[in-house]
Amino acid sequence: MATLIKNGTIVTGTDLFKADLRIKDGTIRSIGPGLEHAGDVVVDATGRFVMPGGIDVHTHLDMPFMGARSTDDFETGTIAAAMGGTTSHIDFIVPVKGRPLQEALETWRGKAEGKAAIDYGFHLCIVEMTPSTLGELDAMLEDGITSFKLFTAYPGALMIDDGAIFTTLRWAADRGALIQVHAENGPAIAEIVDAMVAEGRTEPKYHGLSRPSALEGEATARVITLAGVAGAPLYIVHLTCREALEAVGKARKRGQRVYAETCPQYLYLSSDDMARPGFEGAKYVCTPPIRDKEHAPALWRGLAQGDILTVATDHCPFDYDGAKRMGEGDFRKIPSGLPGIETRMALLYHGVTENRISLTRFVDAVATKPAKLFGLYPRKGAIVPGADADIVLWDPERDYSLSHKDLHMRVDYSPYEGMTLKGGPDKVFIRGELVADNGRFLGKPGFGRYLHRDRFHPIEL
Ligand SMILES: [Zn+2]
Repeated sequence: MATLIKNGTIVTGTDLFKADLRIKDGTIRSIGPGLEHAGDVVVDATGRFVMPGGIDVHTHLDMPFMGARSTDDFETGTIAAAMGGTTSHIDFIVPVKGRPLQEALETWRGKAEGKAAIDYGFHLCIVEMTPSTLGELDAMLEDGITSFKLFTAYPGALMIDDGAIFTTLRWAADRGALIQVHAENGPAIAEIVDAMVAEGRTEPKYHGLSRPSALEGEATARVITLAGVAGAPLYIVHLTCREALEAVGKARKRGQRVYAETCPQYLYLSSDDMARPGFEGAKYVCTPPIRDKEHAPALWRGLAQGDILTVATDHCPFDYDGAKRMGEGDFRKIPSGLPGIETRMALLYHGVTENRISLTRFVDAVATKPAKLFGLYPRKGAIVPGADADIVLWDPERDYSLSHKDLHMRVDYSPYEGMTLKGGPDKVFIRGELVADNGRFLGKPGFGRYLHRDRFHPIEL
């Protein structure tokens, strides 16, 4: 059976035009004005933007962290994603030190299979460098895992040293893998944290004050330098501040292949939220921390101008009246992470209604560039014949205010409670199947397929 989407305005990462779209057997078959009915199911998209489904390349579903577990699993998290217009995501495998990487991959497959309602892929975190690590990474490439995350933060846990980072970058340059980095100077931060706790400064806001933006800038510039010497492309996850953005901008001007991601929490929230009275600031504790107000306008400019290419979520929810409470009286014990997989696209679209970014840049940042960077293009992130029919009909006129009670993420609060938005997904298709319609979920857990991703192509980014 074919589906014909008529009378919509197609929006891609580069173009906007009126055309109809025919879908058959899960893929886009034809695009053009006035396509004829041919026994099709017809969907009227008058007044709607017809765009590729969103791709969230930074999620942590069902993840053990800081003595807790992120509250959304692959079922609840991906249903929420679909309701927000996201049709694919890439989650991070976090291996256990001393154990084979293949075992970690099996663990994450087990979390997703039979549960994911949208398509899913995996990145792998590299948390140690042993004599067998590079060989094990080669095997990961064969499994369609082509991007790997390193940490300059969390010493004693996830951090690896500059030597191991450089080794990995050289390997990636040779193999066509993309290295991602969480860039903060972990050892310096550890010193500040200890000093603050010793002085009895333990409220949530000290989580932010103990991690200065300059130390994100320093680590970002350092890893950019290492990547430049290694000849490897580099992707900066969750960039939050002016210092880091300047390092990325300088490198890109030199022609270095450096790509940056930010998240809605860094565009809309500020350190004032973390300083809310009582323990409420814990709702806003994530890492790197949400910054002082003056950083967000710089991030918006970076997004508009292209030094920041993608917007992902770092979705990693913990209940406020649950795991977050472990950190009452000690900010070090607040599980770090925010919910966001469902609200990412509507929040970024808000930047379109406020003239901060263009409509095509919106689509580019939430769908097209993520697909290009992570080996999914043009199967995903594109409206072209042959692409998967992952399509969102976006209603630019819908007015509503965000509230946790209307959202589908399995967590007991929203960081954006009461925020007024315009525009949201109306119908959402994954491989031609209608999975969300006007606020109703019509898909099913287990429908999501594993995304075997291509290696990094230095296509025009
Ligand atoms: Zn993350």
